[in-house]
Amino acid sequence: MSDSISPSNPIPLIQDVTRQELREWMVSQDLPAYRADQVYTWLYQRRVAGFGEMANLGKPAKFALGAHFRIGRLEPAEALHSKDGSIKYRFVLDDGRSIESVLMEHADHHTVCVSSQVGCAMGCDFCQTAKMGLVRNLTPGEIVMQVLAARCDLPDGGNLRNIVFMGMGEPFHNYANVMRALEIFTDEYGFNFSQRRITVSTSGLLPQIRKFGQERVKANLAVSLNGVTDEVRTQLMPVNRTYNLQRLVEACKAYPLASHRRITFEYILMKGVTDSVDDAKRLIRLLHGLKFKVNLIPYNEAPGSKYQRPDWEDVRAFQQHLLGRGVVATLRISKGQDVQGACGQLIVSKSTARPAEALPA
Ligand code: SF4
Repeated sequence: MSDSISPSNPIPLIQDVTRQELREWMVSQDLPAYRADQVYTWLYQRRVAGFGEMANLGKPAKFALGAHFRIGRLEPAEALHSKDGSIKYRFVLDDGRSIESVLMEHADHHTVCVSSQVGCAMGCDFCQTAKMGLVRNLTPGEIVMQVLAARCDLPDGGNLRNIVFMGMGEPFHNYANVMRALEIFTDEYGFNFSQRRITVSTSGLLPQIRKFGQERVKANLAVSLNGVTDEVRTQLMPVNRTYNLQRLVEACKAYPLASHRRITFEYILMKGVTDSVDDAKRLIRLLHGLKFKVNLIPYNEAPGSKYQRPDWEDVRAFQQHLLGRGVVATLRISKGQDVQGACGQLIVSKSTARPAEALPA
């Protein structure tokens, strides 16, 4: 079973449990293993709120489940609606900590951006979440419940197609729980998400990138690049002191990509810091030889931020330079900007913060 039981609620959360574990638990209770498959379908496809609603389960299974587990549910404490259709949610966890998720609207589908930690230890200089420091890791169920809540809030006929781990936290700093959440998201009896529709974004933790390449669930890898010299990247992202650009690129070259996949590099354009055509040229040289695409994100100024949004013509020039040299370069106009729900803008109560911890080994 999961080692990540909520600190304030000793009753295990059923959303922390993988289907295989639940099958084993059923057998330990003298119940047929397939009951676990049924429970998963009720939880993630029919989204019921109680074991009593799981009609085909039989009384013994319902009773045993009710005696051992609880079904968690995240209700938004706040939901801020952006002009572009995005919704930023704040959820309060069992221990009173808050996390944020964003539901983004696209032409024919939705994407949910989930948090993996309360706060973050990585200390990126441009990021609002970094100001909180790391408070704690989320359990697998707390990650899963963000997607359940977003799905419940979809408009009629809405199609939740993508999950991106780009909310609060460094997913690879909470590696085991994020992997368990991926298992639940892709389980055929559960959400049944396509592996291709899930993206995990890291600031560049090399040991975990290597490990991720060996996982059974092949979600997409995104790397937050943001600087194309060690000097600039270290200023923006302290992780670069431990894992510099050369080592990062080597790890990406060694990454076992599934066919027709690329690594996404996210690159935040900040005025006068990362937005010159010279930077675009360095980026191409740096990533030469990789199968990759670049996601350009014009910086979102937050109150008190020390970096500035780039000029539109510089954004265009940067993108055109990449496109002109055959680099796939998309421009992400951050969703939810007017509600501070865009990249690097998720932050909740500072009163829950503690100082950032040292980097994981
Ligand atoms: S950008 Fe990501 S990794 Fe860096 S501090 Fe913010 S949440 Fe953490």
